[in-house]
Amino acid sequence: MAETVFSKIIRGEIPAKIVHEDDQCLAFHDIAPKAPVHVLVIPKKPIESVDAISEEDAGLLGHIWVTIPRIAAQLGLAENGYRVVVNCGRDGGQEVEHLHFHLLGGRRLTWPPG
Ligand code: AMP
Repeated sequence: MAETVFSKIIRGEIPAKIVHEDDQCLAFHDIAPKAPVHVLVIPKKPIESVDAISEEDAGLLGHIWVTIPRIAAQLGLAENGYRVVVNCGRDGGQEVEHLHFHLLGGRRLTWPPG
């Protein structure tokens, strides 16, 4: 898998506004927020996309899904709700080829997405 900007953030080589870190994942504010709160939650393991998830990643993905609502609560989103988005591939709008979960909230989001 090619090196991405997120690998550099994981290694601390470029700065990010980190809101959560543990041994398996990292969460930081998106540099170009699409909502009042826009955080990216990423596995530290370099997985290219949803399409590259394998059976051995099941525990890691479970951990991320348990962690996302904790981060949402920490950021004050629990009461009004939020959205978790994962773009995959070209048609899905994925730009960075390191699996990431967009956590969006702080305003009423429209549906369906474009
Ligand atoms: P996607 O289009 O789903 O691949 O989303 C990639 C996201 O990464 C976009 O929302 C970008 O704004 C965000 N992004 C790119 N570079 C950085 C960075 N250095 N720090 C924080 N977020 C970034």
